[in-house]
Amino acid sequence: MTMKTSLNITLTILIALTTVTAAPAPKPPPFRAGAAAVDVTPKQFPLNMPGGFSANMAESAHDPLHARALVLDDGATTLAMVIVDSLAVAVETANDARAIASKRCGIKPENILVAGTHAHSAPSSNSTNGPPPAVAYRKLLVEGIAESIVRAHSALRPAQVGVAAHPLPDEVFNRRWFLKPGKMPLNPFGKLDQAKMNPGTSPDVLDRPAGPTDPDITIFSVQDARRRPLALLANYSLHYVGHLPKAQVSADYFGEFARLIPSRVNGDTNFVAMMSNGTSGDINNIPFNVTRPPREPFEQIRIVAQKAADTAWHALRKIEKHNPNARLGMLQREVTLKYRRPTAEQVADAKKVLATKKADREKLPRLAENYARGTIAAAERKDETTKVIVQAIRIGDFAICCLPFEVFCEIGLDLKKRSPFERTMVISIANGRHGYLPTPEQHKLGGYETWIGTCSVQEDASVILTNNLLEMLAQLRKEK
Ligand SMILES: [Zn+2]
Repeated sequence: MTMKTSLNITLTILIALTTVTAAPAPKPPPFRAGAAAVDVTPKQFPLNMPGGFSANMAESAHDPLHARALVLDDGATTLAMVIVDSLAVAVETANDARAIASKRCGIKPENILVAGTHAHSAPSSNSTNGPPPAVAYRKLLVEGIAESIVRAHSALRPAQVGVAAHPLPDEVFNRRWFLKPGKMPLNPFGKLDQAKMNPGTSPDVLDRPAGPTDPDITIFSVQDARRRPLALLANYSLHYVGHLPKAQVSADYFGEFARLIPSRVNGDTNFVAMMSNGTSGDINNIPFNVTRPPREPFEQIRIVAQKAADTAWHALRKIEKHNPNARLGMLQREVTLKYRRPTAEQVADAKKVLATKKADREKLPRLAENYARGTIAAAERKDETTKVIVQAIRIGDFAICCLPFEVFCEIGLDLKKRSPFERTMVISIANGRHGYLPTPEQHKLGGYETWIGTCSVQEDASVILTNNLLEMLAQLRKEK
């Protein structure tokens, strides 16, 4: 090899190397986010707020209801999360909204989460043939949810995300209690449970709570490329607060939280905050062994919302750096669950209750007739099974699990512990509501949430759904 050839080869290599280094590396598409809130306050009244045992007609609105949407896009996957001020958005209503939004902005329907906040002071969402105000409200809700997604999608801009949690233990109480000997009243079936829901506050009656609480408020923070707050999705395992003026629709503490957060985080007018319901099937805001001073209507909602907003701010301060390159993934499964069937003995007991002469009905246990009718309905149900939707979302190192039940907090704590992600949020009342979801252990203790008529699916449903979600999380974790 001559000197010249050698030089030539060296030059060629050098040129080749230079070409390789100079070629622009394929730039990953920017992570983008957009958020929007659409007012879905009912305009026509009266409307039933079916959160309790009997009709509860609203005549006006105390404060506005909203559908709050967050759309995320990593260049490969686009997904939407909508938190709606509603007792629950029925799966049919959610599906109608998902279809409209999908048509208008192209997000796949199965990449859209629609969750109700479970405010008990909000109307029913699925009346297609009821009184005109209820039918009008369903239409308003479907349009509003779809519109919130479309607006959030059209607001997409480069963004970065962060996650943290901070505890607020003093506003969550497990509402199921073991009672002192001899204090357990008969349940509607004439039997004795081991756990009682909302047993009052008397120290002569209360022994100890029958389950834990989940004290954490988890937050998912979204900022634009210049670190200006775009959105904040929070999650707390508290059923609702209540204590409102009579006959008025309200978004409860979920709405008040969303109104407070913008000033806490210095968000601009387009900033959207939303509070989702965690796993609160057995949790409420009644301080069973503390005496709380009397409150004005809406006062306790304001107190809880302020504490929750402070806690969310403390959590936000823990995020050292927001991530501008989070990868997204979303999986949806339809899981088949068996309906519970009452035993022949339970059916016979129910028939006996319903045949009780009017004069003797006062001697029956509380709500005996309601649950006797529920038992007969469960026995006569034609379908053997029902299908429910679960969703799992991945945003970088963060995951969200979504379940269509009033989920016991034990299930949320378990999912958070066993999740392969650094932090996991569990949203309940998502994509419909199929009653309570207790654990098999809590089923053994009995009590309101476990009774046939309140809880309609098989007693190990929580195990089946948890296993499904863990499989989905494992799959999302594997995706690069
Ligand atoms: Zn409820």
